[in-house]
Amino acid sequence: MNTRMWMSDRARVRSVRWLACAVAAVIALLVAATSVTAHGPDPIFSGRWNQNQSLQFSWRAGSVPAAAYQTAIKAAAADASATRGSQAATFGYATGASNLIGYGVGATCSPIGIACFSRSAPTSFSMWMREQGHKFDWGSLRWCQAYTTWPDGCYDVENIMLDEFGHVEILDHHSTFTSESDYTDAVVQTGSHAKPKAGWNAHAFGRCDVASLQLQYDMQGWGAKYSTCLDLATTLALTANPTAVAKGGTTTLTATLKVANVSSYVRLALNPVALRSVTLQQRAAGTTAWLPAGTMAYGSTSGTYTKSLSLQSRTEFRAVFAKPPGEGLRAATSPTVTVAVGQ
Ligand SMILES: [Zn+2]
Repeated sequence: MNTRMWMSDRARVRSVRWLACAVAAVIALLVAATSVTAHGPDPIFSGRWNQNQSLQFSWRAGSVPAAAYQTAIKAAAADASATRGSQAATFGYATGASNLIGYGVGATCSPIGIACFSRSAPTSFSMWMREQGHKFDWGSLRWCQAYTTWPDGCYDVENIMLDEFGHVEILDHHSTFTSESDYTDAVVQTGSHAKPKAGWNAHAFGRCDVASLQLQYDMQGWGAKYSTCLDLATTLALTANPTAVAKGGTTTLTATLKVANVSSYVRLALNPVALRSVTLQQRAAGTTAWLPAGTMAYGSTSGTYTKSLSLQSRTEFRAVFAKPPGEGLRAATSPTVTVAVGQ
């Protein structure tokens, strides 16, 4: 092995992280170590997959999960793909795939981990889940899928492995309030919940998981909803064409709505914001009160909105985007545009 290869291998090994998903007993210890603001988007690891990269996995030889666990892991992969709300990677089982998921005593998880993963985006990942009955200092691990009737205190494999798939995407554990009042904002949690505590059987990424996936992997379309765990400023521009008309002539106002250009918005900065409601307001030049001039129609370019009006006198216009319900975008108002009217 020459020096160059050795350096390369060492760098690769350093980039692979085994991180564990633990149980409630260690929450206080781990939360104290983070400085990320609670209730915001999940913290992230470094290293992204390609957008919409298809990641396939198979079972680790000698550590193959039992059938009921396989079903739950495949369901978790489908949950991750279906609820990522972004162009994050997708997951699916494929015989012979090189990304391995294993079960049992060979798990390389930390001593507190009930499951764990490694990731080296955009190349590979792996996962482990501990065996049923594994002895921790707090007791024996119980997976719900090991029982016909799920007992209280069991961990849902589908939920726990969705946490792991979230890590593989790029997500670190959500910075949850000590009270856990925001626990269901994320599946990717330091302390997993057993049945029947809140969120124990969540099978979709939470809004603050999705927020980070949107920031890192971008939206699936310009009309898609931004996570309410985000609070993104928007910009609204307005132009008139023409800017002067004869009396009774027609001008067309065009508004352009975008996510603001803020570096912390990562991939979302300057996104066109399409298929929302943008209204036009007008007033006679020299007056102060704005009057409604109607809702603008969707323009031919994503994120544009238009309205044509015939004018009798010099008129000022502005476009208004009210904060939309159910998504993490702020309101915006355009600068004023004046259209002159001749005789
Ligand atoms: Zn975790």
